[in-house]
Formats: sequence, C-alpha cells, structure tokens
Amino acid sequence: MRLIFLGAPGVGKGTLASLLANEKDLVHISTGSMLRQQIADHTELGKEAKSYMDKGELVPSELVSSILAASLKNLPEEQGYILDGYPRSLDQAEYLDQLLAELKTPLDAVVLVEIPTELIINRLSARVTCADCSEVYNLNDNPPKKEGICDKCGGKLIQRDDDKPEVIKQRLEVYEANTKPLIDYYEKKELLVRVDNSSTPEQGLHKLLAALAD
Ligand code: AMP
Repeated sequence: MRLIFLGAPGVGKGTLASLLANEKDLVHISTGSMLRQQIADHTELGKEAKSYMDKGELVPSELVSSILAASLKNLPEEQGYILDGYPRSLDQAEYLDQLLAELKTPLDAVVLVEIPTELIINRLSARVTCADCSEVYNLNDNPPKKEGICDKCGGKLIQRDDDKPEVIKQRLEVYEANTKPLIDYYEKKELLVRVDNSSTPEQGLHKLLAALAD
C-alpha cells in the first residue's frame, strides 16, 4: 500500500502514520523528520532548511524533493509506505506524480486527516518530541510516564522550535495557502479518503482502517 497523509499541522498525521505503519508493515517517510535529522547532523542542507523551518515557512521544493526521491528510490518495489508531510504544494504533487510514474508505483490513496480548527492550536502547543527517537507526546492527552523523558528510549523531550505560538500561526497560514489546494487535486484523481482524528490515536487508527477497507 502506498499512501500520502495530508492535513494541517497538529492534526496528528505523524502519530496516525506511525500506528498504521506498524499495523500494516509500511515504511513511514516524514520529510519533516528527515529535515530535522539533517539539522541535527549539521549538514549544509540542514543549515539551509533550518532558516525556513524556524519561521514556519516551507523549505524550497528542490531541497525537499531531492531527499524524498532518494528515499523512495531506495525502497524495494513491493515495499509499501506512507508519505507524511510530502507533498505540501502543487509543484511537489506534480513532481511526485512524475517520480511515481517513472518508478511504475502508483498511489493507492491520499488520506486527509482532519480535526476541528480549535483543537489544532491546543495540540501543537502541548506537543513535545523526543530529541533522540522523534516519538511524539501531548502533555494534556498523552503525557510521558516521567516528565521530560521519552518512555520509548529514555531520550530528552523537547518542544520543537516551530511549535512556538508565533510560528504555529505562520505554519497554519502556509498550510491554507500552499497545501490545502492539494485536497482538490487528489479529490479529482479520486484518491482522497477523509478521516476524523479528533479523539484518541487508537480511535483514529480504527476509523482509518475502516476507511481504507471501503
Ligand atoms: P512537519 O514535521 O511535517 O510538520 O514539518 C516541519 C517543517 O519542515 C515544515 O514546517 C516545513 O518548514 C518543513 N517541511 C517538511 N516537509 C516539507 C515539504 N514537503 N516541503 C517544504 N517544507 C517541508
């Protein structure tokens, strides 16, 4: 199964993608995580990407698309995957169409993850992420067992620089302007599947599995 996960920042795309990836043995490809790894590794690409990410802006497509293409080309043909955070604009969607046509591996569905707008800010400002393994927690709904420490690997939990209130606002604007048009794009291709993720991640997964089976 080859899927895209689409949705505003804070809707829980990453958590849902991890759960589905585990359940269905899919590779979870998050361009945001790949970029954060480049920053942690102090690469040239990471340095350039950081200046955009810190402001809540999109990293230029040519930088993101090159790392995305490399990771897709490295996968065995039969390996299913979830793209989380890519594409984020029409030019990226068109690039991906071309890449997947070359690889002869069409998409099976595009999952639009949705929650009411008022929940988004709450979720993003309460989100902490493990600096080592990228596991995500929510201080209100899904706190770690020990404050500041990752349950999974014992790493330090941090707030992402781009989860600060002023950057959240910018990221939501960028989503509206650049990424939202993709809903129409994939609806026209009859690939769009909508999933409400406003309750727990487990319930979100349940609804997602049902929607994919339809
Ligand atoms: P995410 O972890 O998906 O929320 O992404 C965090 C940040 O990484 C975004 O706000 C963008 O600055 C950058 N980013 C991730 N994926 C992309 C993409 N496909 N195109 C451009 N920028 C991206």
